[in-house]
Amino acid sequence: MSIEENIDKIKKEIGSQKVKLIVVSKTQSLETMEEVICTGHKIFGENQVQELVEKWEKLPKDLEWHMIGHLQSNKVKFIAPFIHLIHSVDSLKLLKEIHKQGKANNRILDCLLQVHIAEEETKFGFAHEELIEMLNGDEWKDLNYLRIRGLMAIATNTPNEKIIQEEFYEFRSFFEGVKLSYFRKNEEFNELSLGMSTDYKIAIQNGSTMIRIGSSIFGKRPSKEIKTE
Ligand SMILES: *Cc1c(COP(=O)(O)O)cnc(C)c1O
Repeated sequence: MSIEENIDKIKKEIGSQKVKLIVVSKTQSLETMEEVICTGHKIFGENQVQELVEKWEKLPKDLEWHMIGHLQSNKVKFIAPFIHLIHSVDSLKLLKEIHKQGKANNRILDCLLQVHIAEEETKFGFAHEELIEMLNGDEWKDLNYLRIRGLMAIATNTPNEKIIQEEFYEFRSFFEGVKLSYFRKNEEFNELSLGMSTDYKIAIQNGSTMIRIGSSIFGKRPSKEIKTE
């Protein structure tokens, strides 16, 4: 199937549900991305700052860019002028830098807190206790050049759908708990970035509001490129 047909298929599956499709274009060429843009789709996810900035510079300016990969504090400044949403915030230090760069650019930067839910040790994100500990503190509350819009997670890389279903179900409960305890008065804390090519249907069943899809649209990336950083 063509890129266009793959995107169409996923959009049909989403139907009228409030789920945003983020086309993960990491490692894809500008020409391939232009094919996507021709279909009318404007929302892209990248996982490396350099690639993200280069593509932003070269492609039309009305696209919506999502940073979905591990982000080092010293690189926030490169994406702060244009980024739509940072999915992968995993420390208070990074939040502070995002606030600083938001202020420098006079933009309020939207972000999600990434939570580690997978069995693999290598995945980034806050441990549950770590996140609660940060939210119990006061420091994050003064960071007014950013908005925490919700949570993000990556499931264990397994063909066993039962494990993924359990991880997503638990994560959804955790999200609801965090929302009630720390964002009760905040209407803007309502995003759950959950689901990739292999598990987006399970993610949508569990309340995902944003799915991040690459290989189901473009085909498999060369294996050396498959990494979460
Ligand atoms: C690469 C990547 C995706 C997309 O993965 P596919 O399996 O190709 O759909 C989604 N989320 C993150 C964080 C990624 O790094």
